Amino acid sequence: MVSVKTTILGELLTGIVEDKLTVVDLTQTLNEETPVIHLPPPFKNTNGFKFIKLSEYDENGPVCYWNDFTAGEHCGTHFDAPIHWVSGKDGDSVDTMPMKNMIGEACVINITKKVNINPDYCLNVEDIKEFENEHGKIPSHSFVIVHSGWDKYNRNIEKYFNIGKDGQPHTPGISKEASIFLVEERDILGVGVETVGTDAGIAGSFDPPFPNHHYMHQANKYGIAQLSNIDKLPPRGALLVVNPLKIERGSGSPLRVLALVEGN
Ligand code: MN
Repeated sequence: MVSVKTTILGELLTGIVEDKLTVVDLTQTLNEETPVIHLPPPFKNTNGFKFIKLSEYDENGPVCYWNDFTAGEHCGTHFDAPIHWVSGKDGDSVDTMPMKNMIGEACVINITKKVNINPDYCLNVEDIKEFENEHGKIPSHSFVIVHSGWDKYNRNIEKYFNIGKDGQPHTPGISKEASIFLVEERDILGVGVETVGTDAGIAGSFDPPFPNHHYMHQANKYGIAQLSNIDKLPPRGALLVVNPLKIERGSGSPLRVLALVEGN
């Protein structure tokens, strides 16, 4: 019988066990303070995470600690399934998206300097081409992760939402042209961002509104929002594993996102 160590999986496992690969957790901690997207009227809003304690070694369960919880599908680090958007209504939900599409390379595009100057900054085609000139063409079946630096605000609700004097959230996103380019020219699996949504805070006023949602989901691609620890990823080569709950016809799901990175 062939030893597992001589196989591709064996090499991967050895890499993890012997710390030749680092497993990076790209997930925000879920608790009652975890930020959730807040949309203006007429939109109905989602609930954040809430614990309902069942017992903690007490009269309700002397030997065990456990809880119920309630949470929106789009709470904390989470998945936006194609079916989340009207343009993708015939596409996959969280339970039907092929598991093969949950694993891919992360192409991490750093726009932190531009976002520091302009919080409304949207990743554009020029940024993608600049990235490709330095790091090679973005392959199909990969993720484009927008490193905006916004995760540093995830425990500061005021900064995380950055509501301006105009009442609008001023947070970075992805332009319409870049969204179309990633779908049509690069055939990626999806995009990942550090903010509450894959579109800019002010993208409700864009044409079409929320263009990243519109074009990605229309093409049966998905979104990953509220990522953490993106600064621990190299521009190319990290392997992402995305794990949505298998909610029947779910439009989204809280996620635990892992990245395997070479080296330690
Ligand atoms: Mn969402």
